[in-house]
Amino acid sequence: MKKLIVLGLMIALLIAAPASAREALPRGIQKFLDALEARCREYGWTDIRPHEIPWEYYRTTQRKAPLLFAQFGNPKNECVLFLGDVHGDELPTVCVLLKFAHYVKEHPDLFRDTCVIIAPLVNPDGFFAKPPQRVNANGIDINRNFPTRDWHADALRQWGRKNNGNKRYYPGKKPASEQETLFQMALIKRFQPKKILSVHSPLGFYDFDGPSADLDSFEQWLEKISKETNFPLKKNGYFPGSLGNYAGHERNIFTLTLELASSAPNRGNAYFQQFQTAIVKFISLHFPDAQQASRSASASKQ
Ligand SMILES: [Zn+2]
Repeated sequence: MKKLIVLGLMIALLIAAPASAREALPRGIQKFLDALEARCREYGWTDIRPHEIPWEYYRTTQRKAPLLFAQFGNPKNECVLFLGDVHGDELPTVCVLLKFAHYVKEHPDLFRDTCVIIAPLVNPDGFFAKPPQRVNANGIDINRNFPTRDWHADALRQWGRKNNGNKRYYPGKKPASEQETLFQMALIKRFQPKKILSVHSPLGFYDFDGPSADLDSFEQWLEKISKETNFPLKKNGYFPGSLGNYAGHERNIFTLTLELASSAPNRGNAYFQQFQTAIVKFISLHFPDAQQASRSASASKQ
C-alpha cells in the first residue's frame, strides 16, 4: 500500500512538472546569486549583495548559469550598455560593475533621465570555473565569436597566425555560436545603445571604437578622462569577432574598453573607486552633430 502511495505521489509530481518548471526559474537564480555572493565575499567584495539588484534573464549558459542584466532609468532614453567579465578570469571587472549597479540603484535621481543596462557577468561559466578561465564552458573566446563581416575570412586564420592557436583565443567553429555572444547581441538589438563600456583586464588602458565622424571628439573626451583618472589611452585595434568590431566599427556605437591593470580580485574595490566618476561621465557624454555644433557656434557670435 505504501508503495502505491509513493508511486501515486510520483505520478502526481510528474503531472505537475510544467508548473514546478516555471517556478524553478526563480529558485535557480536564487541558488546562482547565493553562489555569486559567496564568491564576492571570498574575493573581498564584502558590500556586494547580488540579491538586491533587479535582475532579468532569458538565456542560460552551457552549465545552466543565468545570463543576467539589470536595467535602470527609462529605456525610452538613450541607452548605455555595460558589459563585464566577457573573459571569465578577469575577476575585478565583476566587482566594478556589481558595485556600479548598486550605485545606480541607490541614486535613482541621478539616472532618471538615462537608460543604463548593466550585464556584469557575461561569462559566468568562465568565472565559476576552477580555476577561473578566459573562455566559456565550450572553450570559446566570446570576444572573438561575434558575427563580424570578416569572421569567415579571418577569425580562424588570425587565431592560427597571430595567436599560434592559443586555446585562450579560440573563436569557435562558426560566429555567434555561443549563448554568451547571442546574449550581448540581443542586448544591443533590444536596447539600441548609443554607447557601450566593456570592462576587461589586465592590460591597463582605455581603448575605443566608434563612428568615424565623431572619433576625434571621442578621443579628445577620452584624453581628458585619461588625465583625470591617471590611466593611459591606447589604440589597440579590433579583431575578427570582437565587440569593438561588431558594435563600434560595424554598428557605429561608441564602444569604450576599460582594461583594468590587473586581474587580481582584491583590486576590485580600488578599481571601482578609481573609475566610478569616469563611468558616470561616460553616461552623460553627448556629441552634438557637426551641423548643429556649427549652427550654435554662429548663433553665439551674433
Ligand atoms: Zn578581456
